[in-house]
Amino acid sequence: MSSAERYNALKGVQDIYPREVFIWQKIENTAKDVFSAYGFQELRAPIIETTDIFVRSIGETTDIVEKEMYTFPDKAGRSITLRPEGTAPLVRCYVQNHLYNLPSPQKFFYSGPMFRYERPQKGRFRQFYQIGVEALGSSDPKLDAEIISMLRLFFERLGLEGLHFEVNSIGCEKCRPDYKNALLNFFSDKINRLCPDCKRRFEYNPLRILDCKVDECITLRTGAPKVIEFLCNECRDHFNALLYLLSLLNISYDINPDMVRGLDYYTRTTFEVTTKQLGAQNAVAAGGRYDKLVEEFGGPPTPAIGFAIGMERVVELLQLSNKEEIPHPKVFIAAIGASAEKEALIIATRFREDGIWVEIGYAGNSLKSQMRRADRLSADYVLIIGDDEISSGKLKWKHLSDRTQGEILFSEVHDFFK
Ligand code: ATP
Ligand code: MG
Repeated sequence: MSSAERYNALKGVQDIYPREVFIWQKIENTAKDVFSAYGFQELRAPIIETTDIFVRSIGETTDIVEKEMYTFPDKAGRSITLRPEGTAPLVRCYVQNHLYNLPSPQKFFYSGPMFRYERPQKGRFRQFYQIGVEALGSSDPKLDAEIISMLRLFFERLGLEGLHFEVNSIGCEKCRPDYKNALLNFFSDKINRLCPDCKRRFEYNPLRILDCKVDECITLRTGAPKVIEFLCNECRDHFNALLYLLSLLNISYDINPDMVRGLDYYTRTTFEVTTKQLGAQNAVAAGGRYDKLVEEFGGPPTPAIGFAIGMERVVELLQLSNKEEIPHPKVFIAAIGASAEKEALIIATRFREDGIWVEIGYAGNSLKSQMRRADRLSADYVLIIGDDEISSGKLKWKHLSDRTQGEILFSEVHDFFK
């Protein structure tokens, strides 16, 4: 290993530069504003949990638990996992702290890094970020509709277009066994041609076969029975009520009967937001109901629903949409000579107290090099101060993009940008 290689970042993680962080913050702020209007409040759960919390909730035969978890023993030999998703930790917190005693539904959002040991590629990382929401304590389909309309508003506020909403219902513990049997029947004469993973899924969790990304399995599952056809009356009514409410709110959607989602805890409503702009990694947000999860964690019966947005994919969509704004200083103060530099420092300090982004020149840079720096920073205005300006009591201003310029009294400069 050469010394230059020694300090590389791990595979599948990213350094995010300030210019990109600017976009991240815009997304985070938009999420916070939109979610707040729906009464969702931020909850910050830890990034590490005991491994069981994920294995039991996400399911032992899911991709995440089988292959993708960052699991390691801590110094006391406990098995620790870096969270691969945000729902299980939040439900753990909800149950542990008896949050179900508060008025229902309780509505939370979170944002932060998730960790999955995946093959890194475009739009797929080992440390990636999600913003997610969870609403616990109601099975009313109105809550499902609100959550989906909140997600639509979030994307609208970001100015993102061309997103597709797909919904499905995967039933409950009453109707799912019939569907599982129908799937087992369907695949029973195809087992040998399924991929090794799906052979195992056939044994333990045949629904997972519908989520497989292997071409052969995709072909083999054409004509497989659809979960919607197996819904019990309650689940069917719930789904129909949701579809009605989505239409009421003018949300266009497609029913995707194959969408089963990659985690075991889902029941009834599942949904995804997809785009055609990102190639293979086409899901930008996904979620669903998990009406049994709180009970599995030892809490009282508490139907719940949530979703998670893939940050990197939304960042990429914003970059592609050219709606990206580049942060730049409002003012650059170019000063020539010792007294001008002092004056510039005083003016800059006052502007900054008003929250205006100001840059100044350093260590006797020539006017030319200061102007060049102002240009590279894309400052809106340059103020120029030299000996002449100091003696006349006026300084020069220039607007860099429209090339207008003028003079202004030192005493009035503070109000110039108001
Ligand atoms: P996929 O089918 O793309 O693997 P998933 O079903 O594993 O997605 P979820 O667990 O539902 O994904 O996570 C919600 C969202 O988080 C996804 O829609 C996606 O935008 C994003 N996401 C998931 N895994 C990654 C990853 N490894 N890197 C970047 N974003 C991811
Ligand atoms: Mg995945």
